[in-house]
Amino acid sequence: MGMDRLTQPQTVDHGTVGQLLGSLCVRYRFFGSAPIGNSVLGRPIRCLTFGSGPQCVLMAAAFHGQEWLTALICLRLCEEIGEALLTGERLAGWDIRRALRDRRIVWVPLVNPDGVEIAVHGSASAGEYADLVRDAGGDVYGCWQANARGVDINHNFNAGWHELQQAERENGIIGPCARQWGGTRPMSEPETQVLVNLCDRISFRHVMALHSQGEEIYWHYGEHTPPESRLMASVMASVSGYTVATPSGLASHGGFKDWFIEAHGKPGFTVELGKGTNPLPITEFEDVYQKARELLVISLLI
Ligand SMILES: [Zn+2]
Repeated sequence: MGMDRLTQPQTVDHGTVGQLLGSLCVRYRFFGSAPIGNSVLGRPIRCLTFGSGPQCVLMAAAFHGQEWLTALICLRLCEEIGEALLTGERLAGWDIRRALRDRRIVWVPLVNPDGVEIAVHGSASAGEYADLVRDAGGDVYGCWQANARGVDINHNFNAGWHELQQAERENGIIGPCARQWGGTRPMSEPETQVLVNLCDRISFRHVMALHSQGEEIYWHYGEHTPPESRLMASVMASVSGYTVATPSGLASHGGFKDWFIEAHGKPGFTVELGKGTNPLPITEFEDVYQKARELLVISLLI
């Protein structure tokens, strides 16, 4: 591409993601950006949008603090889409202007800004919850997955939440902690509510949730899973080499894609980007992105 990349490999936090969103909207005037709610600590959760077509797709990332790399991957995709729309050049073989003609794309690169701040900067960034976060391991590098008050956003959605809480208890998870506690009730957290409200306001044809790691695609949740979900997951797997997976154990309920499938009866996917140990090192960013690139592009067009 002709211009310098905005999304260079770098550790991203709430501030850098906000700057990148702003820069993308300046360079690519057809992008819009808006706050869609606030985190527990009042940090704005922002979306980037493109298009006004009837077919709406949501891609959301960084539900988990130590998975901040997924926010940068989401933003790199936005940048490549923006460049393809600006120049008319193909992206992963696709005529993007034509392929996105009937689409409205909403990206939420940072669902859990407080969690990412904690994962990157430690408990001092947790405001009034700094003591709780420190005691729960928030200063151990790579440990923090939850939001600022120790609730795992992807355990907090209203889909099998009581079964999930039972499983959490059996694993000794009974209160605020670094990962895998679903909170005191479903949808208790503002970050969860932001996505629920967004999906109630916009009728998404399908949603993509970006996590790391494992190079896997999850597509199934209960009897409301639409029949086309399996095929869509297979297409995404075939262009990436990722595995079509079935969740087990503590990943079985309470997630965003679980709730979306159950509440809206439309396809929802969790994609586990990259392979290794979280947080995936920034040196792997380009490799992870390149391997997932076609999957990510197709996930908006499919
Ligand atoms: Zn995750």
